Amino acid sequence: MIRREYLMTPGPTPLPPEVLLTQAEPMMHHRTPEYTELFVQLIANLKEIFLTKNEVLVFSASGTGAMEAAVANCFSPGDSVLVAHGGKFGERFRDIAKSYGLDVVEYAYEWGDVADPEVIGRMLKEKPWIKGVILTHSETSTGAVNDVKSVGEIVRETPAILIVDSISGVGALEMRTDEWGVDVLVCGSQKALMTPPGMAAVAVSPKAWELVEKSSLPKYYFSFSKARKSMSDKSPQTPFTPAVSLTKAMSVGAKLILEEGLENVWKRHQMLAMCTRSAVEALGLRLFTRNLERSYAVTAVNAPPGIDGTKIVRIMNRKHGVILAGGQSQLKGKIFRIGHVGYYSFFDIIVSISALELTLRELGYPVEMGTGVAAAEESYYEYINDK
Ligand SMILES: *Cc1c(COP(=O)(O)O)cnc(C)c1O
Repeated sequence: MIRREYLMTPGPTPLPPEVLLTQAEPMMHHRTPEYTELFVQLIANLKEIFLTKNEVLVFSASGTGAMEAAVANCFSPGDSVLVAHGGKFGERFRDIAKSYGLDVVEYAYEWGDVADPEVIGRMLKEKPWIKGVILTHSETSTGAVNDVKSVGEIVRETPAILIVDSISGVGALEMRTDEWGVDVLVCGSQKALMTPPGMAAVAVSPKAWELVEKSSLPKYYFSFSKARKSMSDKSPQTPFTPAVSLTKAMSVGAKLILEEGLENVWKRHQMLAMCTRSAVEALGLRLFTRNLERSYAVTAVNAPPGIDGTKIVRIMNRKHGVILAGGQSQLKGKIFRIGHVGYYSFFDIIVSISALELTLRELGYPVEMGTGVAAAEESYYEYINDK
């Protein structure tokens, strides 16, 4: 049989044909008017997607590069930051802050849970010297989504800045950077933006720039100030050679989001998540994340008792060509994750669910074929017929 692959992971994600085609174009020089035009348009589009008037800077790096940049540019040695974490990516931000010698005040909540904004408020009151709050928007490792808006309302009343990892959020889930008081928004290319991995962006507020100007942590390639200076040139550009092909891809990905309409994109992700959840529950499986706190970017599902989640992921991939993500760290083998962030339509969900039904039966879990698929179709039918 031929093998067709279906990439259903929460990053990297599938690419639209328009984006793929940019990767076959001849190389362009980055100090030309043509490149500047592309770059200026990309920044303008990203601002629209981020819903921000703040400065947006892009870096050739995966999302983690921008996370590191946020820490290195906003703080000085010994500064206190509050890191809220309840998953692998929240912990990554904590580790980055620690590796830069910051005094990290941890607010660890359970994996699968979300941060309580009031706890953050209390911690800021107890330690008014905290310079920044670091939060994960959509925690891709657990499928939980934090209430950035409420945290923003609290942090904006304090001298601290709010840094948000929205790498699997912005461009798929509602994220109102300015309205919600996000001082540094961190974004990566390979999730919602329908672009290959390797590009990252940040949006930096005036409140954050004040800290950037005082920051004495070491940085060079990721310097916000250098990037800002190149942006203010007559022909805006990046200080160093950018990943030209990826910049092209990202500009097309961003354009496609705006053509669909930001709110329509948010609604589509909600639909994809709702259909996936109803399918999984119809199969008798349990969702890992609590209701009301589930991200529309990814659905985390508990492996059924007695079945190893890594086996589900392996069979889905090897036998059916459907690539899901397993659990990370402490969740390894316990959960599997169905990605639906970026270039996905309803029928991609059917592919994931159909392969899941086959796989579960192969592993001895009782499945009546089509149960999950039918549930997804019912949800979708309702969605398209009674908006
Ligand atoms: C994907 C992701 C990252 C970044 O990972 P990279 O491997 O550096 O691209 C960070 N945070 C979250 C929430 C993510 O989903």
